[in-house]
Amino acid sequence: MKNQNIKKRVVVKVGTHVLSENGKLCKKRFKALCEFLAKLSNKNEVILVSSAAIVSGYSKIKLDKSILSNRQALAAVGQPVLMRTYAKYLKKYSKLSAQILLSGHDFDSRRATKKAKTAIDSLLKNNIIPIVNENDATATEEIVFGDNDQLSSRVAYYFGANMLVILSDIDGYYDKDPRKYSNAKVQKLVCNIKDEQLSLPKEAGSEFGTGGIVTKLKAASYLLQRDKKMFLTSGFDLDDAKSFLLKKIHKGGTLFSKEGR
Ligand code: ADP
Repeated sequence: MKNQNIKKRVVVKVGTHVLSENGKLCKKRFKALCEFLAKLSNKNEVILVSSAAIVSGYSKIKLDKSILSNRQALAAVGQPVLMRTYAKYLKKYSKLSAQILLSGHDFDSRRATKKAKTAIDSLLKNNIIPIVNENDATATEEIVFGDNDQLSSRVAYYFGANMLVILSDIDGYYDKDPRKYSNAKVQKLVCNIKDEQLSLPKEAGSEFGTGGIVTKLKAASYLLQRDKKMFLTSGFDLDDAKSFLLKKIHKGGTLFSKEGR
């Protein structure tokens, strides 16, 4: 009885492909995402990790993205645009959001991690949805090599979430690349990840994306080793995410879980 009001903490990560289309933010998908986040946050503590700062910047000014300093500038222009977009759509559900920019250093020491966690805890206690991103303007490693899949796994672990949900351009993890093989089969449950699955070269799906399936597997592996779960599902069509997280029915999407449930 006593635990009835304790909300589970969930981290939701959304990729650039889901949030944008043809170099612009995709309003339709933003709206759908914010509706889902609002519903989810009624029963859970929700932390969002959102990519798409660079594409948001590009929607305002067409700088040459092949130049690193331009990507830094685009991220700096785009981050407030991204936050305004979230604030606008979450307002419809009377939800407030807040920006938390993190870098690798925030996970370097226990003291630094604790400071960041204190801010996150305080926001969640006040029913505010923290929206986390890597500080792309200065964390240039993230722009060149990095990705928010790894960041979101750290956020989930260090900030005490039970599960990481990755909303991707793919509806789950397949036994082989579904873009190359039409007979690829989606894996509903993955209990362990082999080292060779993690050593494939990283590929990004579009000019704005930085992830690929390997970074998602690395995030899942990191969490499995720490007895946490990850759910990989479509961010284009949120039906499976809604079913799994709001109704506890596993229709589609891949659950990475050591316990097998
Ligand atoms: P996001 O933008 O959501 O971070 P990415 O496009 O970077 O996602 O990575 C997902 C892509 O990885 C899929 O669209 C798919 O083409 C590719 N991929 C390669 N192998 C697999 C696999 N075994 N299962 C699922 N997707 C795969």
